[in-house]
Amino acid sequence: MAYDVIVVGTRVAGAATAMLLARRGLRVLAVDRARFPSDTLSTHQVQPPGVARLRAWGLLDPLLEAGTPMARTARFDPGPAVLHGAYPGPDGVLSPRRRLLDALLLDAARAAGAEVWEGFAVDGLRFEGGRVTGIEGEAKGGGRREAAAAVVVGADGKHSTVARAVRAREYRTRPSTSGALYGYFEGLELTGGEMYPRPDRLAGVWPTNDGLAVVYLGVPRAQFDAARRRGIPASLDGCGDLGERVAAARPAEHVRGTVDLPNTFRVPYGPGWALAGDAGLVMDPITGQGIGNALRDAEALAEALAAGLGGAARLPAALRAYHRGRDRERRAMYRITTGMAAFRPDRFGALLYRAIAGDPAEVTRFLGAISGAVPPRDYFNPVNLLGTVTGWRPTPRAA
Ligand SMILES: Cc1cc2nc3c(=O)[nH]c(=O)nc-3n(C[C@H](O)[C@H](O)[C@H](O)COP(=O)(O)OP(=O)(O)OC[C@H]3O[C@@H](n4cnc5c(N)ncnc54)[C@H](O)[C@@H]3O)c2cc1C
Repeated sequence: MAYDVIVVGTRVAGAATAMLLARRGLRVLAVDRARFPSDTLSTHQVQPPGVARLRAWGLLDPLLEAGTPMARTARFDPGPAVLHGAYPGPDGVLSPRRRLLDALLLDAARAAGAEVWEGFAVDGLRFEGGRVTGIEGEAKGGGRREAAAAVVVGADGKHSTVARAVRAREYRTRPSTSGALYGYFEGLELTGGEMYPRPDRLAGVWPTNDGLAVVYLGVPRAQFDAARRRGIPASLDGCGDLGERVAAARPAEHVRGTVDLPNTFRVPYGPGWALAGDAGLVMDPITGQGIGNALRDAEALAEALAAGLGGAARLPAALRAYHRGRDRERRAMYRITTGMAAFRPDRFGALLYRAIAGDPAEVTRFLGAISGAVPPRDYFNPVNLLGTVTGWRPTPRAA
């Protein structure tokens, strides 16, 4: 059978894309080498824009009913001042375990009519006259299979097989400069999220399912091995009382970590193919943007593909608009993220934090900007930052 779209990779980007396309009536095949529910090497803070998408798709309630906590407030403690406040709007940061979130999205894709092959590893694409026409690969224990489609979507993560096969061009590539460690702890009292940026570390802690807290530690890449040896609680010294609280809590599950944290954009479309999520644009997890980005890509790409394949628009033009919209939206956060992951000195930050610490509305705007709920380019631009610190605002020009 030929499909309208084959999606390779069925976690946040792929399952959401498959679900949205199937809900629009397209014939969709979604494949993944993993079987679900399955965990993956990732913490799981879904920022407010991602939460809003889950709600719009009818998936927020099942996550909340499964006991997923939503942190509506956060404490951002960089040292010189503490910013403690609420996120803007109705949503905060949701922290569902990936085995829960990814399986829920995949079930929703299936319920919408997508066909799903789990345990199927794609190892090549099929081409005709330079155009991608399908996939081929190996089913676990079931031999080789192939399938054809008008478009193949690579939602297969940062080391995407699809991106490699189509030689998707990379740009704005930045070196991998950090390492990430995380662990789960029981008995850690939290009223919301907590973030502790330090010159040589960033620690974060969030409530998650099963009464656990996930503690994240980002460190310069060169210090990753030492931090791993010291362990999470000892590596939190100087982060307020977090180290002592984590040391007093009970570790649950083993500590996970990686230095495989690339930063790059890829051109996300070409003849017969498109990319979504980390396959198309990956950034260091230090700002916790990847899941929200993947959900946003899924929405925008499904709209472009439905318009292009349904005849409402020319497919290349719809995909070009998807590419431009993605880059426009993501550029500022990418710059902030790669700067944070490089642990560059933030001299202006102390002035900003002191200026806004006592102002709940400004703290809310700041939390909105670092979570992506307020467009970061509207907040982290020189005019806004200068105005926020000094109270000076440019006089609007007379018409
Ligand atoms: C340590 C760490 C912490 C993170 N913390 C956060 C966080 O708190 N918040 C946040 O928003 N983001 C976080 N991220 C980033 C987030 O995990 C990713 O951005 C997100 O998972 C990308 O989703 P995706 O669907 O694009 O790709 P992935 O989640 O990587 O899924 C890709 C899927 O494709 C499948 N696949 C790959 N190749 C093939 C193939 N050849 N054939 C078949 N299937 C294939 C894989 O099995 C996988 O299931 C973190 C990342 C790391 C490494």
